[in-house]
Parts: sequence; structure tokens; C-alpha cells
Amino acid sequence: MDCIFCKIVDGQIPAKIIYQDNDYLAFLDISPVSQGHSLVIPKKHTVDFSSLTGAEAGALATTVLKVAKGIAQALGAAAYNLGLNNGQSAGQIVPHVHWHIIPRYPGDDLHLWPADAAESQRLDET
Ligand code: AMP
Ligand code: ZN
Repeated sequence: MDCIFCKIVDGQIPAKIIYQDNDYLAFLDISPVSQGHSLVIPKKHTVDFSSLTGAEAGALATTVLKVAKGIAQALGAAAYNLGLNNGQSAGQIVPHVHWHIIPRYPGDDLHLWPADAAESQRLDET
């Protein structure tokens, strides 16, 4: 299978694994946008989040919760963002479902969403 995340699951390419169980794996993102930026994936190859059942999505979210709390505690992160890019137009580059956990720190000045768009939306609403 020519999927980079499946290769990580199979141990064919290295990753800094921070959590795993029978069905899920979490590892550090190779190009982190903040300290501790991690990805949580199902071990079973799945491209599209929408193809998961409710039970599968729920179990994945439970794993994300567990890992996010662990990362936040270990790194003393004051907060974190969660994100999932589903589909090419949404910015999904790796075709294997993955949640991003992005720890946040006071004053880190990280802008994950276009600030201009958010600002103009607020102005439109006034
Ligand atoms: P996305 O745009 O949501 O598909 O993001 C894919 C993420 O996977 C990016 O943040 C990449 O830095 C990350 N990534 C790609 N290859 C690897 C790898 N071999 N190990 C860890 N993270 C990776
Ligand atoms: Zn895969």
C-alpha cells in the first residue's frame, strides 16, 4: 500500500510515536506548526472521514481526547486546536484520515485561519 501513514503503522518508515492501541496511532507531525503538533490516525487505511461509521468516528474522537489531554499536560500547553482536513479542496494532503492536535501557548501568535476572513465576517455581522 503506497500510503505514508500506513507505512508508519507497519513500521516501514520511522515516526515519533506517542500513543498506540489496537486500532489507533498517534505520532508527532514531521513539520510541526507548534511544539507537540501531533496526528491521530486509525490504523486501518481510510481516506475519507465521511466513510467512517458513527462508532468509528466516536472511537477516533475518544482517542484524540486522550492524546490531546496527555500532550497538553506533558508540555504544559495552555490550550490546543483540533483539526481535520477532509478532501483535497479542504487541504488534505495525506489520503489517510488524521486529526491534527496543535498545542497552543500564550502569545504564540499562530494564525491557523485567515485572520482577514474572520475579521470581515465579524464586520459583516455588525
Ligand atoms: P494534511 O494537510 O491534513 O493532509 O496534513 C498532513 C500532515 O502530515 C502535515 O502536517 C505533514 O507535516 C504531516 N506528515 C506528512 N508526512 C509525515 C510523516 N512521514 N511523519 C509525520 N507527519 C507527516
Ligand atoms: Zn493509509
